[in-house]
Amino acid sequence: MTQHNDLAALDKAHALHPWTHFESFERDGPMVITRGKGCDLWDVDGKRYLDAVGGLWCTNIGLGRKEMAQAIAEQAERLGFANTFVDQSHDPQALLSAKLAQIAPEGLNRVHFTTGGSTAIDSAYRMVQFVQAARGFEGRTHVIARRHSYHGSTFVSMSLGMRDGDRSPEFTYKSDTIHHVEAPYVYRRPEGMSVEEFEDSLIAEFEAKIEEVGAEKIAAFFAEPIQASGGVLVPPPGYLKRMWEVCQRHGILFVADEVVTGFGRCGEWFASETIYGVTPDIICCAKGLSSGYQPIGAVIFSDDLWLDMSGDRWYTSGFTYSGHPVACAAALKNIEIIEDEGLLSHAKEMGALFQQALHGLEDLPIVGDVRGHTLIGCVENVADKTTRRDFDEGIDIGRRITDAAEARGLIVRPMGSLNVMSPPLVITPDQIDFVAEILRAAIIEVTDQLVRDGVK
Ligand code: PMP
Repeated sequence: MTQHNDLAALDKAHALHPWTHFESFERDGPMVITRGKGCDLWDVDGKRYLDAVGGLWCTNIGLGRKEMAQAIAEQAERLGFANTFVDQSHDPQALLSAKLAQIAPEGLNRVHFTTGGSTAIDSAYRMVQFVQAARGFEGRTHVIARRHSYHGSTFVSMSLGMRDGDRSPEFTYKSDTIHHVEAPYVYRRPEGMSVEEFEDSLIAEFEAKIEEVGAEKIAAFFAEPIQASGGVLVPPPGYLKRMWEVCQRHGILFVADEVVTGFGRCGEWFASETIYGVTPDIICCAKGLSSGYQPIGAVIFSDDLWLDMSGDRWYTSGFTYSGHPVACAAALKNIEIIEDEGLLSHAKEMGALFQQALHGLEDLPIVGDVRGHTLIGCVENVADKTTRRDFDEGIDIGRRITDAAEARGLIVRPMGSLNVMSPPLVITPDQIDFVAEILRAAIIEVTDQLVRDGVK
């Protein structure tokens, strides 16, 4: 047996993967990755791939960084763990919270560390109710989120999310106090509606939902500035700010889920303020915070919230690994690298090329929509470009294109009928050309096959 077969067999025999389809996994087994450098990955057989997914929207500074390995090793040796409960702290947490306060929008100077994105969202969900109660609004226990959103995989974060495919009937979701409104899915807006009219209709729907639930019962609105896992939904320019203004009018806190959009993915530290003109009450982040080198998340929140919630009370939320020293040390080094190498402006520059390269695919007969922002991108494949008709689910178009790309050394993520990308910020113009070229070849190969099969 080769080493590959050993590892794949062990994994197959014992590991339950997140979002796995049992039957296809049993048939195909895992792709076992053993090494990464920059944007590239190597599998156990030595085959090289350009990882245009960036791990899972997270390897922002690129893989295989010696400085990161050193920072992690040094911290692990000096202080591998100390809890941060009650009144104990350590230097990496103190330094990282101060650094996050510095790069966050003005007025957001407080940080509560978590273990990742889902736990940041869960923690924010508890925090908004805590703050509202501290302000004397004990009745504000409901929250509003949106369709096609993904906020994580814990019970509450998954209940806040609303991607069709995630709503498995075997699992339960919290539904008594979590409400959803439509997403700014511009490509799928109602027939005959302009983008401006669509934006107006979303604002009106939000206001109607607040009216229906009762503003006095609503603690917060949760929103990803760009809905990533729900299909890279880039909102119309004025949408997010108008949603925020509605929140402000009704005393509803605005929680920006910047787990994907933070740390340079959109060319800025955070997207909500700089790009969309919204100053959230809370920003949840993870992923690019450490570029995936360590599991860590954070809830960054405003001085106003802090003032109202603090005083003679206990805050009883947090984890053994909140502010883990090794994870904080990794995040600090990661932020230093982003600053020292000017990766925010590099991301902007590469982002412009990346979007242009993806738009170059629009001539292909099954590419219905290309959308994205900076270094997030997505191709939506359709059976009919005029009517925007989807392929039958059984065709598994996104998966087929991903497989064809993978055979050519490119990793893109399938998501239903979409192929989604979020490459490391360190991507180069040549690598962008490679992504577009291989994706084009993969789409053409799959289209030709569908034509041969009489499906297209
Ligand atoms: N929010 C968003 C917007 C995400 O994309 C994700 C993960 N893809 C999460 C939250 C959850 O983060 P984690 O997987 O680190 O728990």
